[in-house]
Formats: sequence, structure tokens, C-alpha cells
Amino acid sequence: MSFANALRCRECKREYPLDPIYVCDFCFGPLEVAYDYDAMREAVSRDSIERGPLSVWRYADLLPCDADLAVDIQAGYTPLLKADRLGTELGLRNLYIKNDCTNPTWSFKDRVVTVAATKAREFGFKTLACASTGNLANSVAAHAARAGLDSFVFIPSDLEQGKIVASSIYDVTLVSINGNYDEVNRLCSELAGKYPWAFVNVNMRPYYAEGSKTLAYEVAEQLGWRAPDHCVVPMASGSLYVKIWKGFQELAKLHLIDGVQTKMSGVQAQGCSPIVTAWEAGTNAIRPVRPSTIAKSLAIGNPADGYYALGVMAETCGACLAVSDAEVIQGMKLLARTEGIFAETAGGVTIAGLKRMAESGHIRPDEVTVVFITGAGLKTVEAVIDELEPPLTVEPTMASFEEALGERAIGERNDVAAQEARSA
Ligand SMILES: *Cc1c(COP(=O)(O)O)cnc(C)c1O
Ligand SMILES: [Zn+2]
Repeated sequence: MSFANALRCRECKREYPLDPIYVCDFCFGPLEVAYDYDAMREAVSRDSIERGPLSVWRYADLLPCDADLAVDIQAGYTPLLKADRLGTELGLRNLYIKNDCTNPTWSFKDRVVTVAATKAREFGFKTLACASTGNLANSVAAHAARAGLDSFVFIPSDLEQGKIVASSIYDVTLVSINGNYDEVNRLCSELAGKYPWAFVNVNMRPYYAEGSKTLAYEVAEQLGWRAPDHCVVPMASGSLYVKIWKGFQELAKLHLIDGVQTKMSGVQAQGCSPIVTAWEAGTNAIRPVRPSTIAKSLAIGNPADGYYALGVMAETCGACLAVSDAEVIQGMKLLARTEGIFAETAGGVTIAGLKRMAESGHIRPDEVTVVFITGAGLKTVEAVIDELEPPLTVEPTMASFEEALGERAIGERNDVAAQEARSA
């Protein structure tokens, strides 16, 4: 059962019924789901959660919809891995990776979409829709298929092949728009006013955003019911970042963990870093930008939750920084080489940010640090394909193999020598 009892304006705190609406009529502030935490505390325990299914639905009592109607392809309950090899390279002794690459459509977006799709079905919608930077489109198309709903997904036209194919396969109507995400989003807000569709990140946004809290719940449970000392999170709209923080707060409020002293650090790509720019300027007023980065899943120039993200950053003494596309590629390779995880560009952003924070001392060596890897690398092959060693191409003979191996060894020795000559 759900303990959600209203939608509440994040600005003026006026309350509204639990409808498919998302802005306050009085002040135009965004609406957020409010819960009866006293009743929730009575019903929820570590035990009741641990008896639940191995998906986000083990936290159904903390979500705004009825789990019996769940549109469920088993989002969530992803691995939390102790990252000793990466930690050693960065000088961090208690580093963990929350690996959301293993979700049904290979990104954390399955968490938000399973909640939004469930709520959409509860409201009686027949069509699921979204404005997407790629991963959301994949997840909406998949969950609509699972629920037998129609789906329309809207994307900017410059997305990676992998993200296009991973939507089209589900028999979705995929609309590719000559414009950036912010233009796609503006069109979808208009469409949501005209068509009776559940746009998961427009009219369903208050419910959708709650799905991200499950990352905090899982991390706390997997650490033995405690919040980490430090989280490093990639930011597009800033919603994921803010909701992870909210998730830890709720667990403390429900007495499922002791206090929360988590520092929340956020990372963006330099080619789209309006939140970082505002942070560095010491202002809460975020100036929209035109994105230009290989981290396309994070390319939101006008971040809806940026203002709230800045608040969490200040409150928790987190860092807020932007990394270059070259660092993103190095980050993807570093994670793959040390931990065997092939993340998409957003993961490269996060690892590059983590590296900077470890080097600057912002993360202390013994802090329990969780880095959130939010999407899988096969969707963004374009970003790294020219940066990797090509295969050894050989005839099916021992001689050919050993010759090729010898040539590569000579090549590598020459590379090292050339590098030494340059630095001498
Ligand atoms: C959408 C997305 C994010 C962050 O999204 P927010 O808009 O900040 O909630 C992070 N990583 C990946 C891979 C994404 O697709
Ligand atoms: Zn309001």
C-alpha cells in the first residue's frame, strides 16, 4: 500500500490531490509527492523490506503507487561492488560502485520509469510518452511494451545509434527532433497540454522522480543499513542527485538508519555544466546553456532541478565540478581497466569527477564513498571506438599470431621510447 497523501508545491507548500499534474497553480513551483511518514513508520521495517522482491518494488511502501499494479521488468536491486583496484589507483580505501548498468534497459532510468508507468496505469492512461536524452526513451518504450500501452518517445536527432536501436526495437513511435533536449522538452510540455498521454517526465514528473530514491535505499541496505560518507553523482536535470539525498533523509526519518552525514558531490560535463557554473559563481540563478559534449545523456542545458541541487550541495558540503570530454573518455577506460565495468559516457563523467575529488583531497582516503554508474557503455560506442587498441588481425596459424604479437610489442616499446624522448 502507498502512504502518499498529496502533491505539495516545493516552493509555497500548497497541497494538491494525487493527480497527473506537476506545477503549482499559485506560484508555478514544481510539485512533489508528500507522504504520511507516521503511518509509514508503523508499517515499514528492515525486515519487511528484506522479505520483498529483488527489485525496486521491495521499497513499494516508500513509493507513490500501488505495487499490485506494478509495470515491472525488474528494475533495481543492482550490485554494489567494493572497488579495490580503482580505489588503490585513486588512494581511496572504502570505495564502492553502484552499478546501474545491469538494469533491464541498461540505465538507472528503469527505476523512474517503472514508478511512472505504474502510476500512469493507475490513472488509466493508454499511452506512455517522454522527452529524452536517450536512456529514458529506451526505458519508456520497454515498460510500455511490458504493460501493453502505446508509446511515443521524443529525442534530439544527434543521439548515438545504440540509443536509437534500443528504443526502436520495442515497437515504439520514435520521434527524432531537429533540436537539442531543451527544445524537445519544450515541445513535449506543449503536447502534454493537448494529448491525453502520460509524459513520464512532464505531467507524471512528481511520481517519476520518486523512483530515483530507490538508489539511496538500496545503497543503505547493501552497506548494512547505513548511509555512506560520500556520494558522487552525475547531474543532468539534477533530479537524480536531489532524490538520492531525499532517499537517505527518509530512511533516517523512518528509523531504518541512524543519522545522515553524507556529503553529496555532483559532476557535469564541461560542455553542459550550468549547475557547476552557478555554483562557482555563488548564485542560485542558473543560466541555461547550449549543450556540446559527448556525454549526451547528461546534455540538459536548462536543468529543472538545478536550483534544488545547489541547495543540497551547500547543505552537505559536497563538491560540484565539471570535466572535459577527454577526461570522460579516460574515466570510461579507467573504470573498465580496473573494475571490469563498461559504462557509458555519463559513467566516464562520474569517474573523472571522482578522480579529481580524490586528487584534491575533497574525498578523504577512509570515507565510505559510493560512485553512481548510471548507464552501460554499449549504448555509446561512438565515444570510445577511435580511442581503443584495434584487434590483432591474424591468419589462423601460430606463426601469424606470434608475428603480430611481436609487432605489437615492438610498437609498444617504440611508443614508450617516443614518450620518454618527449619528456626528456
Ligand atoms: C538521465 C541520466 C542521468 C541523470 O539524470 P537527471 O536528469 O540528473 O536526473 C544520469 N545518468 C544517465 C546515464 C542518465 O541517462
Ligand atoms: Zn506553489
